[in-house]
Amino acid sequence: MNIARAKEILKRQFGFDSFRMNQESAIEAVLRGKDCVVLMPTGGGKSLCYQIPALMSDGLTLVVSPLIALMKDQVDALRNNGVEAAFLNSTQTAQEQVEVFQSIRSGKLKLLYVAPERLLQSGDQFIDFLKSIKISLFAIDEAHCISSWGHDFRPEYIQLGKLKRHFPEIPIIALTATADKLVRKDIIERLNVRNAALFVSSFNRPNIFYTVEPKRNSYARLLEYLEKRKDESGIIYCLSRSSVDSLAADLRDENFKALAYHAGLDKQTRDKHQELFLKDEVKIIVATIAFGMGIDKSNVRFVVHLDLPKNIESYYQETGRAGRDGLQSDALLFFSWGDVIKLKGFAEVEGNQAQTEIMLKKLNLMGKFGELKTCRRKFLLNYFSEELTEDCGNCDNCTTVFERFDGSVIAQKALSAVARTGQRFGLSYLIDFLRGSQAKTIRDEHKNLKTYGIGADISKNNWFDYFKDLISQGFLAQTEGQYPTIVLTTRSEAVLHGTERVELIKVKIKEDKKASLVSEVSHEYFKDLFDDLKKVRTAFAREENVPPYVVFSDATLVEFATYLPLNNEEMLKISGVGDLKLEKYAADFLEVIKDYCEINNLESRISLKTPKREPKKRTKRDADGNDTYNISLKMFKSGASIAEIAESRGMAESTIETHLVRFIQSGEISVREMVSDSKAEDIRNAILKLDTEATIGRVKEFLGEDYSYGEIRAVIAEFLRYRNMAR
Ligand code: ADP
Ligand code: MG
Repeated sequence: MNIARAKEILKRQFGFDSFRMNQESAIEAVLRGKDCVVLMPTGGGKSLCYQIPALMSDGLTLVVSPLIALMKDQVDALRNNGVEAAFLNSTQTAQEQVEVFQSIRSGKLKLLYVAPERLLQSGDQFIDFLKSIKISLFAIDEAHCISSWGHDFRPEYIQLGKLKRHFPEIPIIALTATADKLVRKDIIERLNVRNAALFVSSFNRPNIFYTVEPKRNSYARLLEYLEKRKDESGIIYCLSRSSVDSLAADLRDENFKALAYHAGLDKQTRDKHQELFLKDEVKIIVATIAFGMGIDKSNVRFVVHLDLPKNIESYYQETGRAGRDGLQSDALLFFSWGDVIKLKGFAEVEGNQAQTEIMLKKLNLMGKFGELKTCRRKFLLNYFSEELTEDCGNCDNCTTVFERFDGSVIAQKALSAVARTGQRFGLSYLIDFLRGSQAKTIRDEHKNLKTYGIGADISKNNWFDYFKDLISQGFLAQTEGQYPTIVLTTRSEAVLHGTERVELIKVKIKEDKKASLVSEVSHEYFKDLFDDLKKVRTAFAREENVPPYVVFSDATLVEFATYLPLNNEEMLKISGVGDLKLEKYAADFLEVIKDYCEINNLESRISLKTPKREPKKRTKRDADGNDTYNISLKMFKSGASIAEIAESRGMAESTIETHLVRFIQSGEISVREMVSDSKAEDIRNAILKLDTEATIGRVKEFLGEDYSYGEIRAVIAEFLRYRNMAR
């Protein structure tokens, strides 16, 4: 029954049709009173894992979050879905806080957001207060902050360990997007939730298109890139505060709405800039890595790294801020080995050689990613111990073919340009020279040379690639230093004399792949209608002083502009429209859609809307909505033996064993409850002995009749659980 109700809340209050990833299992476990640790990538939908149980339980759910600046938006978003939520933090007046306490006492409030320091306030005063009311759940958001191994350690978080001591009966759910194994272990230990069920989701973000470009002329390239994305929101990361400031100013000069964000700005300015960005008043934030943690802006369409992040974790987290709404989004990295070398200087952890080496290794892998010629997503997921069996088809390398061709003539042109101009010029000059540029920078004496302009038929970008290729093959070399020049090598002469053939790589975009980009909406949408709908949204957002996505996300507007709902009933079929939002906003949006349809002679296309995913295989459920696994679990927990359960359910014992084994991996049953200690020991030894050969069949063969498949599976599940925890 629980899950059926959870689904109903998902639809009616949040407007969504189906759960994502582990949301359903995590909610189920919380409702059973289990402690849980939930690992899901940024944008995966962690919040619902505690918000839905909060709505289904008596009492208050306390949400601990380090992100004071975002609490108001989070609470506004909940209220806009008809959820009774509030926050307590230092930004409020005394009067406001009194009102929050009153609403807690009245018992109406379902969710309360607080910063961790609130829990420590004047001894245990706040804890005592919590003891005086009914608490249903503690949710620890951004739980990696508890670990000093994490990238964002907050000492206040350590104190959260006392929650379990003060409230042993109340479940804790910890949530994070950090997959690091040491962090995971710290979370479990420091929160005292050693028996927590663990929910690890895939970290794949299928709607993000990864691109890496060589870092040269990057400013010009960036302008070109942004020009094509004028109405879209994006984040541009730079390494230093000064480059953030100057880039933001330069972009404003180019008429882009861009603001800077870094730790050197005063708090007021930072908050203001962040708010303007969240509210879509400003499209681009240029920032250091200080920006972004917990930013719940769902329509970030692109993330650009002008400088190299120091490891894959950072890169993945920062790019992960794009496309939370599931729509196609971009991640662009400008890469050079120069950056790797520069960052090596920062990788040193003073007095800790081992740690320094870890940092350097991570940095090198980041460099490897920059140079990669194969599927980038495969590489990234592999880094996080996930396997992708096929190339993703949604990154630059997957949509590009590298074709070899006879480039001898091109090579001769390039090399003679270098020779004729005296080996004293850099790449850009040589390319302008080859292309016959009229720019003043080209010296007059060079304009009279025969080579001037002989490469005009080849684009600038292609010339860059060819030069790079010639350098990497050793036909040319590039000097070190601030103004590197291109010079000839011992291999140049043979090419110039035409005695050596040169192969070059031609880069081609696979058009067919480009067209089939992943998106939750596969039908065309009416862009002009979408723009009109955005205006309606902006009007509501301004009126209510909330970010636009709190009204409706971009994904919802895209669905409006695709399926053209023309009445309330059709409106409710759109993802993101729940009961309250229907009541609040539908009329205004409907009016715009109706007008649009009338003018353009269109009808509703709601019938095109199919359930987003292939429906999962149906599971059998009892009258209370428990699936068959949970029925077995319940019976087992109430003391029935496997044989008894099998008997009473009319199923084979082996089937019941299969059911229960699943809960060993999630930690809800311990292996001891299913297998005697001595047998478990034997099975463990067999697994270790067989090592990589340890399939269930082999282990069984090795041990013989006395050990059932179920017992073996149980011990293997235990192994998997520990491996997950240690990962
Ligand atoms: P996280 O905290 O994991 O980064 P959020 O909880 O902020 O992610 O959710 C990210 C976005 O995904 C939000 O806009 C949220 O409304 C949306 N979302 C969450 N769950 C679902 C779902 N089951 N179906 C559709 N959208 C969802
Ligand atoms: Mg979150």
